[in-house]
Amino acid sequence: MRILIIEDEVRLAEALAQILRQQKYAADAVYTGEDGLAYALSGQYDLVILDVMLPGLNGYEVVQKMRLQKNATPVLMLTAKDEISDKVAGLDCGADDYMTKPFVTEELLARVRALARRQGEVVLEQLSFGDLVLHLSTHELAGEKGSIHLGYKEFEVLKLLLSHPGMVVTKSMLIAKVWGMDSEVEDNNVEAYISFLRKKLSFLHSRVEIITLRKVGYRLEASK
Ligand code: CA
Repeated sequence: MRILIIEDEVRLAEALAQILRQQKYAADAVYTGEDGLAYALSGQYDLVILDVMLPGLNGYEVVQKMRLQKNATPVLMLTAKDEISDKVAGLDCGADDYMTKPFVTEELLARVRALARRQGEVVLEQLSFGDLVLHLSTHELAGEKGSIHLGYKEFEVLKLLLSHPGMVVTKSMLIAKVWGMDSEVEDNNVEAYISFLRKKLSFLHSRVEIITLRKVGYRLEASK
């Protein structure tokens, strides 16, 4: 496992690299956002530890540019203690986790291990339930008698339902996951997408139904 550290405080960067090397990780440190971005895009890293406050290209810009270039390497952002709102901004721009400076070594290593595990997870290609198969890369929903393309939000709603087969998914879960925690979306917006999906299920002659549990949420059910 190879870790890239992008941090302009040279002593901190070197101390981090030292800690990681003691844990048998390979670690490289660079001190500017521009260098960091070039290294990160080289594709040889499994994790990037990225400081927010960097001269020139800052941490947010680095992670945004990585994601724009389709680089999915997990990013752990470092923020100073008085930049709490920065954490949110960091996750918004595509970082995977954040840590507040100063931090203790144990916390750093725990987060590195967690992100390393996530990196190793098998990426699911499809989700299925009853006679339905949802292809995650193409947003294609297939039934026994054909298939249909789902719009972005329909896809996200159905994906969440399929990830909890037979279980109740609440409206607030759907809103948080599909529209985002701070969105102004109304309940009937959710209902609209559920109704689009029901139309598509019936178009596919699927035996899967989206059941409404009043004031609670939704659940998938497959009839025999
Ligand atoms: Ca800094």
